[in-house]
Amino acid sequence: MQIVDAPRNSPVMAVAAHPDDIESWCGGTLAQAIDNGCSVRLLLVTSGDKGSNERGADPRAVAMRREREATEAASRIGISEVAFLRYPDGDVEETRRLRGELVAWIRRWRPDVLFTHDPEHPLPPYLSHRDHRVVGRVALDAVYPLARDALVFPEHAVDGLRPHAVKEVWLFSSAVATSYVDITAGFDRKIHARLTHDSQTPDPSALPGNWRERAASIGAEAGLPLAEAFTILRIG
Ligand SMILES: [Zn+2]
Repeated sequence: MQIVDAPRNSPVMAVAAHPDDIESWCGGTLAQAIDNGCSVRLLLVTSGDKGSNERGADPRAVAMRREREATEAASRIGISEVAFLRYPDGDVEETRRLRGELVAWIRRWRPDVLFTHDPEHPLPPYLSHRDHRVVGRVALDAVYPLARDALVFPEHAVDGLRPHAVKEVWLFSSAVATSYVDITAGFDRKIHARLTHDSQTPDPSALPGNWRERAASIGAEAGLPLAEAFTILRIG
């Protein structure tokens, strides 16, 4: 177990399956990374088009609403850019096309640090969302070695994209996390961002208290007041 600071003075990229994933697991850390001089960009693989229990809901309308919520949430954290790949919610597969798109975005945004789902030890174990596992797995494959190697997806060069080596991956929703960030400074922005996801918030008055409890219980594992936890991979 170690206590770590949020990334500092680096380009950062987050890759998530659904529009409200980053707030759950790394919104406080990303807010503090921005305080520390990082630029942060967000790539959303699906637009959460299945995220409605309303009878007769139109998945395209759900996706559009959730993209608006995600864009507003990102701006509340200070994220400079959001891109949407618009894969079908609940139906993300490990395909060459998705690998190629993630490699292209890594080569475009050129992050030193990439945040994504832990695909090998997901939290919760067994009953994790399959999109989380698939997106995390493909993101890791895209980081290493695919985005780094010039002979992989050489067609990207036509768009001016050059190979890029990511230095660190921070895996969130990780059942084996050992690195803890004190998110006291970023907690209010995490909550403020999460509350923009109206469509996913049946009881907005209860959410801040519930989320404070969750951050406090993660923090208690490391002697911190409020925390998010990660498995950090350093890529040599
Ligand atoms: Zn999700």
